[in-house]
Amino acid sequence: MDFELTPEQRAFNENLEKFALRELNDDLIDRDKDGVFAAENWRKCADIGLLGLPVPTGYGGSGADATTMMTALETLGYGCRDNGLLFSLHAHLWAGTSPVVRFGSAEQREKYLPAMCAGESIAGHAMSEPGSGSDAFGLTTTVIRRGDRYLLNGTKAFVSNAPIADVILVFAVDAQKRGFAGVSAFLVDRDTPGLTVSAPISKMGLRTSPMGEVHLDDCEVPESARLGPEGAGVAVFTWTMERERSFILATALGTMRRDLERCVEYARTRRQFGQPIGAFQAVSHRIVDMRMRLDASRLMLHRLAWLIDKGEPSKTEAALAKVYVSEAFVQSGLDAVQIHGGYGYTTEYELERDLRDAVAARIYSGTSEIQRNLAAHQMGLTPRSTRK
Ligand SMILES: Cc1cc2nc3c(=O)[nH]c(=O)nc-3n(C[C@H](O)[C@H](O)[C@H](O)COP(=O)(O)OP(=O)(O)OC[C@H]3O[C@@H](n4cnc5c(N)ncnc54)[C@H](O)[C@@H]3O)c2cc1C
Repeated sequence: MDFELTPEQRAFNENLEKFALRELNDDLIDRDKDGVFAAENWRKCADIGLLGLPVPTGYGGSGADATTMMTALETLGYGCRDNGLLFSLHAHLWAGTSPVVRFGSAEQREKYLPAMCAGESIAGHAMSEPGSGSDAFGLTTTVIRRGDRYLLNGTKAFVSNAPIADVILVFAVDAQKRGFAGVSAFLVDRDTPGLTVSAPISKMGLRTSPMGEVHLDDCEVPESARLGPEGAGVAVFTWTMERERSFILATALGTMRRDLERCVEYARTRRQFGQPIGAFQAVSHRIVDMRMRLDASRLMLHRLAWLIDKGEPSKTEAALAKVYVSEAFVQSGLDAVQIHGGYGYTTEYELERDLRDAVAARIYSGTSEIQRNLAAHQMGLTPRSTRK
């Protein structure tokens, strides 16, 4: 593995860091309190090319390799403190755009990808349901074929971007077939009759990333809306989740780096009992642990990118990285608050928000428990994987 970035990657990241610091952090404390998505900043992200990173150049993207994306996303996470905006961007890129790149027909790619790269079309991904989350293929949203049309019925839960989405990737199971072979995926445009989205759901963190329920009530879509072959929904979902969990925590590296730097600075300057608090071993060791977690997280994610770029299997590595980095993100968020004492607990210091945002990482894109199950299965320890 070579850790040396190319001059182009370095230059892109330097520009990106300046851009993110300058453009993406306005009114964040208020927007977090009020749960406001930064639509203008989304467009700025599109303008600088972030929404087209994994999309081929022919469709308005930059066709970046995995290492370029991983390091760019860390840089973005360092400069942009709006983890909600970053989370919406991840949902759009990995759970909405990437499956169209991978499984879309020529017509679907033409229809969606240029607009997705340009920030004109926001994507969501609807698999989870009120009764099925970890057991994703226990879904009950049904699809019935009527000639060259499909009829969708059901309710999808926790859909990131739903309140702002222009297109939602919906998974449904054939009402007659049931089982894995009956699952198909559909790109459903927001204005399709029968599709409604709930009001944004209030949540602990990532408050600037809108989430909603999606209701499908005799929602009719043409055959051309199906993504991949009929019955290929499990393959589409499995590939998409592996891709998402490979990249979704790259921005967390940036957040952890930023908070670590703040802790070092604070521990050097905050004095108690006549000396900087960093001189107390209990404090310095906590900061060293934050540094170790960041380094280990970065190494795991860079190895993942290296495997992806070589076209090698990385299912287990993606699951391991998802567990480790998300747990590191939460623990280091707690440590950052602790090191800052009472100030760390205040909204003004913006560390409690990073902690609230981090907690979701152990749940979305497959919980830590499910990732451990998946890794255990890949290691031949358990006969059946929980597939998410
Ligand atoms: C911020 C956020 C954004 C999200 N965005 C989306 C989205 O865009 N689209 C979408 O479809 N979904 C989305 N989700 C939903 C997410 O995928 C699910 O919440 C997650 O898969 C867990 O499902 P659940 O909430 O139903 O919990 P459950 O599956 O009910 O799990 C509850 C608890 O039981 C544990 N558990 C369950 N089964 C097992 C098992 N076999 N072994 C060990 N432990 C187990 C879980 O790990 C968890 O701790 C999002 C969730 C969050 C928090």
